[in-house]
Amino acid sequence: MTRRSLLLLPVVLAAAIAGILLFRAPDAEELRERRVFLMGTTVTVRGSLSEPLLDETIALLGALERRLSAHLDDSEIGRVNADPSSEHPLSPETAQVLARALYWARRSDGAFDPTVRPLTLLWNGDGTRHRPPSPEAVAEARRHVGWDRVRLDGDILRLEPSMGLDLGGIAKGYGADEAVRFLRDRGVTRAIVDLGGNVVVIGDRPGGGPWRIGIQDPQKERGERLGVLEGRDLSVVTSGNYERFFDWEGKRWGHIVDPATGWPSESDLLSVTVVCEASLDGDALATALFVLGRERALSLKGELEKEGYAFILVGDGLVTISPSLESSFRLESTEYDLETR
Ligand code: ADP
Ligand code: MG
Repeated sequence: MTRRSLLLLPVVLAAAIAGILLFRAPDAEELRERRVFLMGTTVTVRGSLSEPLLDETIALLGALERRLSAHLDDSEIGRVNADPSSEHPLSPETAQVLARALYWARRSDGAFDPTVRPLTLLWNGDGTRHRPPSPEAVAEARRHVGWDRVRLDGDILRLEPSMGLDLGGIAKGYGADEAVRFLRDRGVTRAIVDLGGNVVVIGDRPGGGPWRIGIQDPQKERGERLGVLEGRDLSVVTSGNYERFFDWEGKRWGHIVDPATGWPSESDLLSVTVVCEASLDGDALATALFVLGRERALSLKGELEKEGYAFILVGDGLVTISPSLESSFRLESTEYDLETR
Protein backbone atom coordinates (compact mmCIF):
# COMPACT_ATOMS: atom_id res chain seq x y z
CA MET A 1 0.00 0.00 0.00
CA THR A 2 1.36 3.47 -0.87
CA ARG A 3 1.72 6.17 1.71
CA ARG A 4 -1.03 8.16 0.05
CA SER A 5 -3.55 5.33 0.14
CA LEU A 6 -2.59 4.62 3.73
CA LEU A 7 -3.50 8.17 4.59
CA LEU A 8 -6.78 7.82 2.78
CA LEU A 9 -7.70 4.54 4.45
CA PRO A 10 -9.40 6.02 7.52
CA VAL A 11 -11.49 8.25 5.26
CA VAL A 12 -12.50 5.34 3.06
CA LEU A 13 -13.31 3.21 6.10
CA ALA A 14 -15.34 5.97 7.71
CA ALA A 15 -17.28 6.47 4.51
CA ALA A 16 -17.87 2.75 4.19
CA ILE A 17 -19.12 2.48 7.75
CA ALA A 18 -21.32 5.51 7.32
CA GLY A 19 -22.57 3.98 4.10
CA ILE A 20 -23.45 0.76 5.83
CA LEU A 21 -25.16 2.61 8.61
CA LEU A 22 -27.04 4.79 6.20
CA PHE A 23 -28.15 1.77 4.27
CA ARG A 24 -28.90 -0.38 7.27
CA ALA A 25 -30.25 2.04 9.81
CA PRO A 26 -33.90 2.15 8.75
CA ASP A 27 -34.21 -1.65 8.74
CA ALA A 28 -32.25 -2.31 11.89
CA GLU A 29 -34.16 0.28 13.84
CA GLU A 30 -37.62 -0.48 12.62
CA LEU A 31 -37.80 -4.20 12.08
CA ARG A 32 -39.14 -6.18 15.01
CA GLU A 33 -40.34 -9.75 15.09
CA ARG A 34 -42.28 -11.99 17.43
CA ARG A 35 -42.66 -15.74 16.94
CA VAL A 36 -45.02 -17.84 19.06
CA PHE A 37 -46.90 -21.12 18.85
CA LEU A 38 -50.63 -20.43 18.48
CA MET A 39 -53.59 -21.99 16.63
CA GLY A 40 -51.58 -25.17 16.20
CA THR A 41 -48.89 -23.44 14.21
CA THR A 42 -45.95 -21.06 14.35
CA VAL A 43 -47.18 -17.49 14.23
CA THR A 44 -44.75 -14.80 13.11
CA VAL A 45 -45.42 -11.07 13.19
CA ARG A 46 -42.69 -8.87 11.76
CA GLY A 47 -42.46 -5.30 10.63
CA SER A 48 -42.00 -1.69 11.50
CA LEU A 49 -43.90 -1.75 14.75
CA SER A 50 -43.39 -1.27 18.46
CA GLU A 51 -42.95 -3.99 21.09
CA PRO A 52 -46.31 -3.22 22.74
CA LEU A 53 -48.05 -3.51 19.36
CA LEU A 54 -46.41 -6.89 18.81
CA ASP A 55 -47.65 -8.00 22.23
CA GLU A 56 -51.17 -6.79 21.52
CA THR A 57 -51.27 -8.53 18.13
CA ILE A 58 -50.23 -11.82 19.69
CA ALA A 59 -52.78 -11.35 22.48
CA LEU A 60 -55.50 -10.73 19.90
CA LEU A 61 -54.65 -13.99 18.13
CA GLY A 62 -54.62 -15.86 21.43
CA ALA A 63 -58.10 -14.56 22.25
CA LEU A 64 -59.29 -15.56 18.81
CA GLU A 65 -58.00 -19.09 19.27
CA ARG A 66 -59.74 -19.37 22.64
CA ARG A 67 -62.98 -18.42 20.89
CA LEU A 68 -62.76 -20.53 17.72
CA SER A 69 -60.75 -23.65 18.50
CA ALA A 70 -62.58 -26.98 18.32
CA HIS A 71 -59.85 -28.41 20.55
CA LEU A 72 -60.83 -26.26 23.54
CA ASP A 73 -63.95 -27.37 25.42
CA ASP A 74 -64.82 -23.86 26.59
CA SER A 75 -64.38 -22.07 23.26
CA GLU A 76 -67.56 -21.02 21.46
CA ILE A 77 -67.03 -23.89 19.04
CA GLY A 78 -66.21 -26.33 21.85
CA ARG A 79 -69.51 -25.50 23.56
CA VAL A 80 -71.46 -26.00 20.33
CA ASN A 81 -69.79 -29.37 19.79
CA ALA A 82 -70.58 -30.50 23.34
CA ASP A 83 -74.30 -29.95 22.72
CA PRO A 84 -74.84 -29.59 18.97
CA SER A 85 -78.62 -29.84 18.79
CA SER A 86 -79.33 -27.00 21.22
CA GLU A 87 -79.63 -23.39 20.15
CA HIS A 88 -76.38 -21.48 20.52
CA PRO A 89 -76.22 -17.71 20.32
CA LEU A 90 -72.80 -17.06 18.76
CA SER A 91 -70.76 -13.89 18.99
CA PRO A 92 -71.28 -11.81 15.84
CA GLU A 93 -67.65 -12.39 14.83
CA THR A 94 -67.89 -16.18 15.09
CA ALA A 95 -71.22 -16.16 13.27
CA GLN A 96 -69.61 -14.15 10.49
CA VAL A 97 -66.71 -16.62 10.12
CA LEU A 98 -69.13 -19.55 10.09
CA ALA A 99 -71.36 -17.83 7.52
CA ARG A 100 -68.35 -17.35 5.25
CA ALA A 101 -67.28 -20.96 5.80
CA LEU A 102 -70.77 -22.09 4.74
CA TYR A 103 -70.56 -19.83 1.69
CA TRP A 104 -67.35 -21.56 0.55
CA ALA A 105 -68.85 -24.95 1.39
CA ARG A 106 -71.67 -24.21 -1.03
CA ARG A 107 -69.37 -22.89 -3.73
CA SER A 108 -67.01 -25.83 -3.46
CA ASP A 109 -69.85 -28.33 -3.48
CA GLY A 110 -68.91 -29.42 0.04
CA ALA A 111 -65.20 -30.03 -0.61
CA PHE A 112 -64.65 -27.42 2.07
CA ASP A 113 -67.03 -28.19 4.92
CA PRO A 114 -66.91 -26.62 8.41
CA THR A 115 -69.03 -29.51 9.76
CA VAL A 116 -66.22 -31.97 9.05
CA ARG A 117 -65.58 -32.27 12.83
CA PRO A 118 -66.82 -35.88 13.33
CA LEU A 119 -64.33 -36.96 10.67
CA THR A 120 -61.39 -34.83 11.81
CA LEU A 121 -62.00 -36.05 15.36
CA LEU A 122 -62.00 -39.65 14.19
CA TRP A 123 -58.89 -39.28 12.05
CA ASN A 124 -56.89 -36.89 14.11
CA GLY A 125 -58.67 -36.45 17.43
CA ASP A 126 -55.69 -36.67 19.75
CA GLY A 127 -52.99 -36.31 17.14
CA THR A 128 -51.61 -39.79 17.82
CA ARG A 129 -53.31 -41.82 15.11
CA HIS A 130 -50.97 -44.04 13.16
CA ARG A 131 -53.42 -46.23 11.25
CA PRO A 132 -56.83 -45.63 9.70
CA PRO A 133 -60.03 -46.18 11.71
CA SER A 134 -62.47 -48.93 10.69
CA PRO A 135 -64.59 -48.35 7.56
CA GLU A 136 -67.70 -48.60 9.79
CA ALA A 137 -66.44 -45.81 12.02
CA VAL A 138 -65.69 -43.65 8.98
CA ALA A 139 -69.15 -44.28 7.50
CA GLU A 140 -70.82 -43.47 10.82
CA ALA A 141 -68.86 -40.21 11.25
CA ARG A 142 -69.61 -39.22 7.66
CA ARG A 143 -73.36 -39.49 8.27
CA HIS A 144 -73.01 -36.53 10.64
CA VAL A 145 -71.17 -34.26 8.24
CA GLY A 146 -73.14 -31.85 6.07
CA TRP A 147 -72.84 -28.07 5.78
CA ASP A 148 -76.37 -27.86 4.33
CA ARG A 149 -77.83 -29.11 7.63
CA VAL A 150 -76.44 -26.15 9.60
CA ARG A 151 -79.11 -23.71 10.68
CA LEU A 152 -77.63 -20.27 11.22
CA ASP A 153 -80.27 -17.58 11.70
CA GLY A 154 -78.38 -14.35 12.26
CA ASP A 155 -76.11 -15.24 15.15
CA ILE A 156 -78.21 -18.18 16.39
CA LEU A 157 -76.81 -21.58 15.50
CA ARG A 158 -78.36 -24.99 15.68
CA LEU A 159 -76.87 -28.26 14.43
CA GLU A 160 -78.26 -31.79 14.47
CA PRO A 161 -77.33 -34.42 17.07
CA SER A 162 -73.78 -35.82 16.65
CA MET A 163 -72.79 -33.02 14.28
CA GLY A 164 -69.91 -30.67 15.08
CA LEU A 165 -67.91 -27.72 13.81
CA ASP A 166 -64.24 -27.52 12.86
CA LEU A 167 -63.12 -24.09 11.68
CA GLY A 168 -59.48 -25.21 11.44
CA GLY A 169 -59.52 -24.69 7.68
CA ILE A 170 -60.52 -21.03 7.87
CA ALA A 171 -59.69 -19.70 11.37
CA LYS A 172 -56.04 -18.95 10.66
CA GLY A 173 -57.02 -16.88 7.64
CA TYR A 174 -59.53 -14.99 9.73
CA GLY A 175 -56.88 -14.49 12.42
CA ALA A 176 -54.40 -13.13 9.88
CA ASP A 177 -57.03 -10.67 8.59
CA GLU A 178 -57.90 -9.53 12.10
CA ALA A 179 -54.23 -9.06 13.05
CA VAL A 180 -53.62 -7.03 9.92
CA ARG A 181 -56.73 -4.90 10.44
CA PHE A 182 -55.60 -4.23 14.01
CA LEU A 183 -52.13 -3.16 12.84
CA ARG A 184 -53.41 -0.99 10.00
CA ASP A 185 -55.82 0.76 12.38
CA ARG A 186 -52.80 1.67 14.48
CA GLY A 187 -50.95 3.18 11.57
CA VAL A 188 -48.60 0.32 10.73
CA THR A 189 -47.59 0.59 7.08
CA ARG A 190 -45.03 -2.24 6.77
CA ALA A 191 -45.58 -5.64 8.33
CA ILE A 192 -45.96 -9.30 7.62
CA VAL A 193 -48.25 -11.62 9.56
CA ASP A 194 -47.64 -15.32 9.03
CA LEU A 195 -49.87 -17.92 10.63
CA GLY A 196 -48.11 -21.05 9.40
CA GLY A 197 -48.84 -20.78 5.70
CA ASN A 198 -51.43 -17.99 5.97
CA VAL A 199 -49.40 -14.90 5.12
CA VAL A 200 -50.67 -11.34 4.86
CA VAL A 201 -48.37 -8.44 4.03
CA ILE A 202 -48.97 -4.77 4.69
CA GLY A 203 -47.38 -2.25 2.34
CA ASP A 204 -43.80 -2.69 1.13
CA ARG A 205 -41.08 -4.54 3.00
CA PRO A 206 -38.81 -2.39 5.19
CA GLY A 207 -36.03 -1.10 2.96
CA GLY A 208 -38.43 -0.77 0.04
CA GLY A 209 -39.86 -2.92 -2.70
CA PRO A 210 -42.57 -5.56 -2.49
CA TRP A 211 -42.47 -8.30 0.14
CA ARG A 212 -41.04 -11.59 -1.08
CA ILE A 213 -43.06 -14.57 0.07
CA GLY A 214 -41.44 -17.96 -0.25
CA ILE A 215 -43.71 -20.81 -1.37
CA GLN A 216 -42.81 -24.14 0.21
CA ASP A 217 -41.87 -27.02 -2.07
CA PRO A 218 -44.44 -29.62 -0.92
CA GLN A 219 -42.05 -32.46 -1.69
CA LYS A 220 -39.07 -31.09 0.22
CA GLU A 221 -38.01 -30.35 3.78
CA ARG A 222 -39.63 -27.36 5.41
CA GLY A 223 -37.89 -24.17 4.27
CA GLU A 224 -37.02 -25.47 0.81
CA ARG A 225 -38.72 -23.20 -1.62
CA LEU A 226 -40.63 -24.01 -4.74
CA GLY A 227 -40.56 -20.37 -5.73
CA VAL A 228 -41.09 -16.81 -4.62
CA LEU A 229 -44.04 -14.51 -4.94
CA GLU A 230 -43.69 -10.76 -4.72
CA GLY A 231 -46.49 -8.56 -3.52
CA ARG A 232 -47.77 -5.77 -1.35
CA ASP A 233 -51.03 -5.56 0.59
CA LEU A 234 -52.20 -9.07 -0.12
CA SER A 235 -52.80 -12.48 1.42
CA VAL A 236 -51.05 -15.66 0.34
CA VAL A 237 -52.38 -18.94 1.74
CA THR A 238 -51.05 -22.41 1.05
CA SER A 239 -52.74 -25.72 1.86
CA GLY A 240 -51.26 -29.12 1.40
CA ASN A 241 -50.91 -32.45 3.11
CA TYR A 242 -47.18 -32.14 3.66
CA GLU A 243 -47.14 -30.59 7.13
CA ARG A 244 -49.37 -32.85 9.21
CA PHE A 245 -49.89 -36.51 8.35
CA PHE A 246 -49.15 -40.07 9.34
CA ASP A 247 -47.67 -42.79 7.16
CA TRP A 248 -49.38 -46.16 6.94
CA GLU A 249 -48.77 -49.03 4.53
CA GLY A 250 -46.63 -46.94 2.25
CA LYS A 251 -49.15 -44.13 2.00
CA ARG A 252 -49.31 -40.71 3.51
CA TRP A 253 -52.56 -39.73 5.25
CA GLY A 254 -52.90 -36.00 5.73
CA HIS A 255 -55.02 -33.78 7.94
CA ILE A 256 -57.32 -32.53 5.18
CA VAL A 257 -60.36 -34.76 4.92
CA ASP A 258 -62.46 -35.31 1.82
CA PRO A 259 -66.05 -35.06 3.09
CA ALA A 260 -67.23 -37.03 0.04
CA THR A 261 -65.33 -40.16 1.08
CA GLY A 262 -64.74 -39.59 4.78
CA TRP A 263 -61.06 -40.37 4.20
CA PRO A 264 -58.07 -38.02 4.16
CA SER A 265 -58.03 -36.32 0.79
CA GLU A 266 -56.21 -38.30 -1.87
CA SER A 267 -55.84 -35.19 -3.99
CA ASP A 268 -53.64 -35.33 -7.06
CA LEU A 269 -52.48 -31.84 -6.07
CA LEU A 270 -49.54 -31.51 -3.71
CA SER A 271 -50.40 -28.00 -2.62
CA VAL A 272 -52.64 -25.08 -3.50
CA THR A 273 -51.70 -21.45 -2.95
CA VAL A 274 -54.39 -18.77 -3.11
CA VAL A 275 -53.46 -15.11 -3.58
CA CYS A 276 -56.19 -12.62 -2.75
CA GLU A 277 -57.23 -9.81 -0.47
CA ALA A 278 -58.91 -11.53 2.49
CA SER A 279 -56.97 -14.37 4.07
CA LEU A 280 -60.23 -15.82 5.40
CA ASP A 281 -61.35 -16.49 1.83
CA GLY A 282 -57.90 -17.62 0.75
CA ASP A 283 -57.74 -20.13 3.61
CA ALA A 284 -61.11 -21.75 2.85
CA LEU A 285 -60.40 -21.76 -0.88
CA ALA A 286 -56.94 -23.31 -0.56
CA THR A 287 -58.40 -26.21 1.41
CA ALA A 288 -61.36 -26.49 -0.98
CA LEU A 289 -59.30 -26.57 -4.18
CA PHE A 290 -56.87 -29.04 -2.64
CA VAL A 291 -59.73 -31.44 -1.88
CA LEU A 292 -61.31 -30.88 -5.31
CA GLY A 293 -58.11 -31.96 -7.05
CA ARG A 294 -56.53 -30.62 -10.20
CA GLU A 295 -59.31 -31.10 -12.73
CA ARG A 296 -62.15 -29.69 -10.65
CA ALA A 297 -59.92 -26.94 -9.27
CA LEU A 298 -59.09 -25.89 -12.83
CA SER A 299 -62.74 -25.75 -13.80
CA LEU A 300 -63.62 -23.55 -10.78
CA LYS A 301 -60.55 -21.37 -11.23
CA GLY A 302 -61.80 -19.21 -14.10
CA GLU A 303 -64.82 -17.74 -12.36
CA LEU A 304 -62.80 -17.14 -9.18
CA GLU A 305 -60.11 -15.31 -11.15
CA LYS A 306 -62.75 -12.91 -12.40
CA GLU A 307 -63.48 -12.16 -8.73
CA GLY A 308 -59.82 -11.28 -8.08
CA TYR A 309 -58.45 -14.60 -6.81
CA ALA A 310 -55.21 -16.03 -8.20
CA PHE A 311 -53.75 -19.51 -7.78
CA ILE A 312 -50.62 -21.60 -7.74
CA LEU A 313 -51.58 -25.25 -8.18
CA VAL A 314 -48.73 -27.63 -7.54
CA GLY A 315 -48.93 -31.14 -8.97
CA ASP A 316 -46.31 -33.78 -9.54
CA GLY A 317 -43.68 -32.00 -11.65
CA LEU A 318 -46.04 -29.24 -12.76
CA VAL A 319 -46.83 -25.81 -11.35
CA THR A 320 -49.87 -24.06 -12.80
CA ILE A 321 -50.26 -20.34 -12.13
CA SER A 322 -52.99 -17.81 -12.86
CA PRO A 323 -52.17 -15.31 -15.64
CA SER A 324 -52.24 -12.46 -13.10
CA LEU A 325 -49.25 -13.98 -11.28
CA GLU A 326 -47.00 -14.18 -14.32
CA SER A 327 -44.91 -11.17 -13.39
CA SER A 328 -44.90 -11.67 -9.61
CA PHE A 329 -44.18 -15.42 -9.24
CA ARG A 330 -40.76 -16.87 -9.92
CA LEU A 331 -40.26 -20.64 -9.98
CA GLU A 332 -36.98 -21.60 -8.32
CA SER A 333 -37.11 -25.39 -8.22
CA THR A 334 -35.85 -27.11 -11.34
CA GLU A 335 -37.98 -30.16 -10.62
CA TYR A 336 -41.20 -28.62 -11.91
CA ASP A 337 -42.39 -27.26 -15.23
CA LEU A 338 -44.30 -23.99 -15.12
CA GLU A 339 -47.50 -23.34 -17.05
CA THR A 340 -49.79 -20.33 -17.06
CA ARG A 341 -53.46 -20.99 -17.67
P1 ADP B 1 -53.48 -25.97 7.64
O1 ADP B 1 -54.25 -26.05 8.91
O2 ADP B 1 -52.39 -26.97 7.54
O3 ADP B 1 -53.06 -24.60 7.27
P2 ADP B 1 -55.90 -26.05 6.07
O4 ADP B 1 -56.16 -24.62 6.04
O5 ADP B 1 -56.10 -26.77 4.80
O6 ADP B 1 -54.44 -26.43 6.48
O7 ADP B 1 -56.83 -26.62 7.19
C1 ADP B 1 -56.81 -27.95 7.57
C2 ADP B 1 -57.68 -28.07 8.79
O8 ADP B 1 -59.03 -27.80 8.42
C3 ADP B 1 -57.68 -29.44 9.40
O9 ADP B 1 -56.70 -29.56 10.40
C4 ADP B 1 -59.08 -29.55 9.95
O10 ADP B 1 -59.15 -28.86 11.18
C5 ADP B 1 -59.89 -28.78 8.94
N1 ADP B 1 -60.37 -29.55 7.78
C6 ADP B 1 -59.92 -30.76 7.32
N2 ADP B 1 -60.58 -31.11 6.21
C7 ADP B 1 -61.45 -30.11 5.94
C8 ADP B 1 -62.42 -29.89 4.91
N3 ADP B 1 -62.61 -30.76 3.92
N4 ADP B 1 -63.14 -28.75 4.96
C9 ADP B 1 -62.96 -27.85 5.96
N5 ADP B 1 -62.07 -27.99 6.93
C10 ADP B 1 -61.32 -29.10 6.93
MG1 MG C 1 -57.49 -23.62 4.80
